[in-house]
This record gives sequence, structure tokens and C-alpha cells, in this order.
Amino acid sequence: MLFAEGFIASLTPISSPLHSATAVLEPALAPVGRLRDSFGRAITDLRLSVTDRCNYKCVYCRTGNEGAQYSELPIADYLRMVRILVSMGVEKVRLTGGEPLLRSGLVDMVAELSELRTAFHPDGTPLAPGETGHPLDLALTTNGHLLAELAAPLKKAGLDRVTVSMDAVDPEIFSRITRVPRSYERVLAGVRAAQAAGLVPVKVNCVLLRGFNDSQIEAFAEFSRREAVIVRFIEFMPLEEPSAVPDARTWKPEAVITMDEILRRLNVWRPSCSTPAGLVELPANAASETAKRFTFRDGVGEIGIIAPVSRPFCGQCSRVRITSDGCVRTCLFSQSDHDLYGRMRRGGTDEEISSYLRDVIMKKEARHHIGEPDFEKPSRNMVHIGG
Ligand code: SAM
Repeated sequence: MLFAEGFIASLTPISSPLHSATAVLEPALAPVGRLRDSFGRAITDLRLSVTDRCNYKCVYCRTGNEGAQYSELPIADYLRMVRILVSMGVEKVRLTGGEPLLRSGLVDMVAELSELRTAFHPDGTPLAPGETGHPLDLALTTNGHLLAELAAPLKKAGLDRVTVSMDAVDPEIFSRITRVPRSYERVLAGVRAAQAAGLVPVKVNCVLLRGFNDSQIEAFAEFSRREAVIVRFIEFMPLEEPSAVPDARTWKPEAVITMDEILRRLNVWRPSCSTPAGLVELPANAASETAKRFTFRDGVGEIGIIAPVSRPFCGQCSRVRITSDGCVRTCLFSQSDHDLYGRMRRGGTDEEISSYLRDVIMKKEARHHIGEPDFEKPSRNMVHIGG
């Protein structure tokens, strides 16, 4: 059965989200309790899209005919949004897009972000006067096309890690998916440059789509072992730009290669003549980790499987997203945006912006409804949200 039911039952709305005010810290605002949604989930993880443009036209994501649909903001405005959210408890920032490496000013932006410090202890209590927080966990998701040139400058500016999206390790299948000739060689060079620059561990994300790249599962396992990268398979979600007529790239349950199917395949795969078949599960790095982690019997290579469709993890969701045009999205599958930039443009103070963000986060959805009869596609597609 593809879809889990009732997994959110433990999420009980809390009636009083605000906690006592505490005067601390230099970030934009004095914290008044870490940002939490109405179900008590702490919001610590920001995904920020810095452009709606993308140089790839991956078949499962874009129609291939549309370009950017939303504007992008001055970097200083994104930085202000991040500063306010950090003062409210955000600790991890992932830059995304569109394709973030297309954005001019990105390296300087990372340098600015690396100066910010967290505002709360890991247990959620505010820092005491005089205490300094930790640097943020700074990551970036990219298609890797421009990474060979940018990996070292980004690392120098303070980026911690990159995730590179790669949907095949066969060069021909790769360019059939990206619809960009000779893209595989460039992305591979980007992955290697990221490793050489110390943006580690490099994670490679692969969205599996039946009929397009499901032949690649074992080849990716081999790739993880050979290139010393973490390969993560992600179940395909209904977030693609719609086709005029449903076609092979349109989401449907049968197109999803589920976690169980991936595990069945990899559990019988033999990594080398001296290594028996069979995956070994690895412990989660953190409670909110979305991937189930595995290695092989000889401990070489790492495979993660992210299964939002067959095993949703909304109960542990700690994320908020900001789109390139400055709207907050509380869930990938939200039906509406919250116009944060509009508030800023109209002269909102940091306190007003912060209070607006608290209200918006209280509207965070309990869960997505993928595969259920009441499912409605979200108001934006993945490329225009920021994955
Ligand atoms: N351009 C960057 C990249 O390629 O990683 C960042 C943006 S891209 C939209 C972010 C991630 O979303 C990629 O890993 C992509 O594979 C994933 N993605 C796009 N559409 C998806 C879908 N329908 N289901 C699951 N993942 C999807």
C-alpha cells in the first residue's frame, strides 16, 4: 500500500504559541520563544530560493517550455529575512532555487550568512545575556552544472555542504532527463570539485521515475561507493509543472519507485565479488532526518532513501520555505503563499515581520495529502518553490 494513514494523530495543536519575552542577543530581534507551529513542531530549518531561473529542464520537474515565473529580490532583502528567522530559532539555511548557482552575488551572500549565529540552545532555551550562538548550518542544493567553478569560492565564503541533484549516472539517460546535452560530465566535475573543496559530505539526490531512470538504482549504489558520496533516492512527488495533456512525466502513483522497491533491489545487489549482498541500516543522524540510511556489508558507500509518499515524515517537519519573490510557504503542498516581502516593502519593522512570521507559521499544515482522494496540487510547482 502506497500511502500511510493517520500518522499525524500525535500532532495536537497547542493553544498558546507565544512564550515569555527575553531580552538577549544581537540578531535582529530579541527572541520570544523559539518559533513553533500550532502542533508544537519547532521550525529550525529554512529553505530559501534565491532565483526562479533554472538552466535545466528536468522532465519530471518542468515542461521544458516555461521559463522563470517569479521575480527575485535583492540579496540584502533575503539576508534580512534570514536574520529575523534566525533570531526566532532557525539554525539551518539551505539555499536553493530555481538553480541557485545562477544567482549573482551568491558567494557574498554566503559570506554574510556565515557571520550569523544561532539564537537558542539546542534544547530550545534562549541564549543567556553575553552567550554567543553557533554558526548556522549552511547548505545548498544545486544541479551542479556550475559547481566546478563555484565550489571553492563557496567553501571559502563559509558554505558547509552541498547536495547535488543527479538523476542518472548514465550520461545519455542523464541528458535525456535534464534536456541539456553533455550535462553529466559537467555535474560529475562539480561533484568532484565540491569534494576537493571540502563541501562534505557531498550528497547526491536522485528522483526515481518509472520508465525514465529506474534502471539506475544499482549503478547509483556503485557510484556512491566509487565516488565516496551519499546517494539519496527521493520518491517522486506531485510537484511537476503540469502538461496540457497528462503524459509520462505526469505524477501518478504507479510512477513512484517506493522505498520498499528500492530496498528489494539493493538487498539482492552484490557490491563486489568479496562482499555479500544485503544492506545494513545506519542510525539516524537526527530525529528530524528525512532519509533512512544504509550502507553495504563492507561499510563502503551510503544510500539514503527519502520516502515522502510511501512513508511521510510530516510529523517531524521542521521546515519553512521562502520563494525567490519573498513569499513564505509553510509546506511544499500549501495552497497559498504568504507575502513576506510585501510586508517588508510596506516598511514593516523587524518586530512586525517577526510577529507576522509567527502568525504564518501557526497556519503550517499538519501534513500533505498525496494519494488521498482530497489531494489538490499545490499552488506552485517544485521549481518555483525551492526544493
Ligand atoms: N536546481 C536545484 C537542483 O537541481 O537541485 C534546486 C532546485 S530543484 C527544484 C530541488 C530538488 O527538487 C531537486 O533535487 C529535484 O530533483 C527535486 N524535485 C523536483 N521535482 C520533484 C518532484 N516532483 N518530486 C520530488 N523531487 C523533485
